Amino acid sequence: MDFALTEEQTAIFDMAKGFGEEHIAPYARQWEKDGTIPKELWPELGALGLGGIYVSEESGGSGLGRLDATLIFEGLSMACPSVAAFLSIHNMCAKMVDTFADDHLRETVLAPALSMQKVLSYCLTEPGSGSDAAALKTRAEKTNEGYTLNGTKAFISGGGYSDGYIVMVRTGDDSARGISTVYVEDGTPGLSFGGLEDKMGWKSQPTRQVQFDDCKIPATNLVGTEGDGFKYAMAGLDGGRLNIAACSLGAAQSALTQTLQYMSERKAFGKTIDQFQALQFRLADMEIELQAARTFLRQAAWKLDNNAPDASKFCAMAKRFVTEAGSKVANQCLQLHGGYGYLADYGVEKTVRDLRVHEILEGTNEIMRLIVARHLLAENA
Ligand SMILES: Cc1cc2nc3c(=O)[nH]c(=O)nc-3n(C[C@H](O)[C@H](O)[C@H](O)COP(=O)(O)OP(=O)(O)OC[C@H]3O[C@@H](n4cnc5c(N)ncnc54)[C@H](O)[C@@H]3O)c2cc1C
Repeated sequence: MDFALTEEQTAIFDMAKGFGEEHIAPYARQWEKDGTIPKELWPELGALGLGGIYVSEESGGSGLGRLDATLIFEGLSMACPSVAAFLSIHNMCAKMVDTFADDHLRETVLAPALSMQKVLSYCLTEPGSGSDAAALKTRAEKTNEGYTLNGTKAFISGGGYSDGYIVMVRTGDDSARGISTVYVEDGTPGLSFGGLEDKMGWKSQPTRQVQFDDCKIPATNLVGTEGDGFKYAMAGLDGGRLNIAACSLGAAQSALTQTLQYMSERKAFGKTIDQFQALQFRLADMEIELQAARTFLRQAAWKLDNNAPDASKFCAMAKRFVTEAGSKVANQCLQLHGGYGYLADYGVEKTVRDLRVHEILEGTNEIMRLIVARHLLAENA
């Protein structure tokens, strides 16, 4: 058993961290205020091969593994988890197109997605269905030319911002097998967006409802096979969960590093606050939590890379554990900054706000527990 990263993996992490420090961190607070991420950022990430991190090399992607991806998201999130998580969603869509779509979509959508001239959003959730995603109601009626879409998607990261939407729609019966995946290009008549959601965190990412009113798409926009859409939607989620966990890890690590520095400078009762043993113990506990989270996350990623039969269970466990550890550490870091932690200038309150949603999306942490419990009961049967 070898726990060390390879030289290449270390270089991947350093590249992502370095890019974040130079191109994201200095602007992250302004992008929060603007409620958007400048579109020009994405082709820069595309040029580094981060538009198709685990898209195969034959298709023009980087062909990296899931463990490599966690290193990228851990590194980028040290600058801003909101920006990093948006990249994760785009990558989930790009991988779906690469794996399941035909040559037409791969040429028209995948190529610009890899360079990030086109950014993609993932549309599964609806106003009436989140955790129970297979209950979705957005319908795609078959026509002579293709499909006509009607319905509403909720909470879509990049809604009204992205260049294309990977949408899970109902083409058949009410079961999960009645769901298909289609691609909808921005600007298609009948595609519109709700108002910008006013969120607690992830503020730089525009989140809107995505609305389809007699929205007509050609038959060639079907991704893969009719009726397999729910399978495709779920296929990306194990990796997505690892990425979101990595985003919590990187941001919490960055908060801890900053807190250590702050505590070595801030004085109370005649000494720097890092000299109080009660606070040293808190630092130690945070270090233990984050190292445990990192090891667990990388083990889950390794299982996914190696198609281990229990990979999904480990991805769910890691998502639950790492996102909650990340939030706990970030909140402690805020506390250790005293009143200054509550001020936006110190950056820790943004981390606390940004990380909270990682416990809710890509499957809530209750659903992660449900997945783990199901595996446990099945193993015991
Ligand atoms: C900022 C943000 C961005 C998002 N981006 C996207 C996106 O880009 N694309 C997309 O498709 N979706 C996106 N989502 C939606 C997200 O995936 C859903 O919010 C999430 O899946 C939960 O669904 P819900 O909000 O409908 O909650 P519900 O499913 O209604 O859950 C409510 C509560 O009940 C619990 N619960 C539900 N079922 C069970 C059960 N069986 N057992 C125990 N507890 C249960 C849940 O854990 C939760 O605590 C985003 C959400 C947010 C907040």
